[in-house]
Amino acid sequence: MNKYGIQFSILDLGKMRSDINLMVPGTVIATRSEPEAKNRMVDVPIDSILIHVPDYGYILCDLGCDPKGMSQNWPESIKEMTPYYQDETQTLEYQLGLVGLTPKDIRTVILSHMHVDHAGYLYLFPHAQVIVQKDEFAQAFAYVFEQLDQNGRTLYMRRDITVPVDKYTLIQGDYQVCPGVTCISLPGHSAGLMGLQVELDEGGTYLFARDAAYLRESYGPPSVASSFSYNVEQYYASHEKLRKLEKETHGKIIFGHDASQWQSMKHAPYFYK
Ligand SMILES: [Zn+2]
Repeated sequence: MNKYGIQFSILDLGKMRSDINLMVPGTVIATRSEPEAKNRMVDVPIDSILIHVPDYGYILCDLGCDPKGMSQNWPESIKEMTPYYQDETQTLEYQLGLVGLTPKDIRTVILSHMHVDHAGYLYLFPHAQVIVQKDEFAQAFAYVFEQLDQNGRTLYMRRDITVPVDKYTLIQGDYQVCPGVTCISLPGHSAGLMGLQVELDEGGTYLFARDAAYLRESYGPPSVASSFSYNVEQYYASHEKLRKLEKETHGKIIFGHDASQWQSMKHAPYFYK
């Protein structure tokens, strides 16, 4: 087995609330005996993955929600559809502080995609390299500048992504950030969605699906695409790619927003090794 000395920690950035039928269509259906069956909103975790690689430094994957989104910055449509809640311990600064770090200590930010619940703290990283898929970058900027008005059902926020960073590294397909940390292209949920493969010395391989699969129920089999999907065919193909990788690496899949899996895991300041 490789010995990279890599560690990761899961940072708790609060919760987003969403209709379960938006995430996993068909979860609630009206029936003959329950013709008025009601949709319901459920809480899902919002997190960030902090990775430490000796000789490389700190990498942060995904940046949660804008902490001022609910109070001022988000359009009403987003506040209504996917409201966000955090307490004072669930800011990115506080969570990094749990392991003795500040945003300045982060060398590289990986954005699995640029949706509202993944790019919210980008403004804290003007010094960092940001890795994102070229297709995602193009799609996000097209949305916020041209194609949709900000009160439409877009999940990209202009304020989140139009902030300075040291440099963007726009990638296409799978991409090794450093030995043991690889971006895995899994488009479908969004134009350039990607997951992350992290190889630990003792813990084995972790496959962070991010929003390629919100929940265990999304992944199946059979796969269930969410109502937010950009391209459903790509989404299904990405699941098959993930299943193959899961087999080859004996990897453990971590879903993007699965509350019960999330609760079964340990969080910062704990590091998986
Ligand atoms: Zn998400």
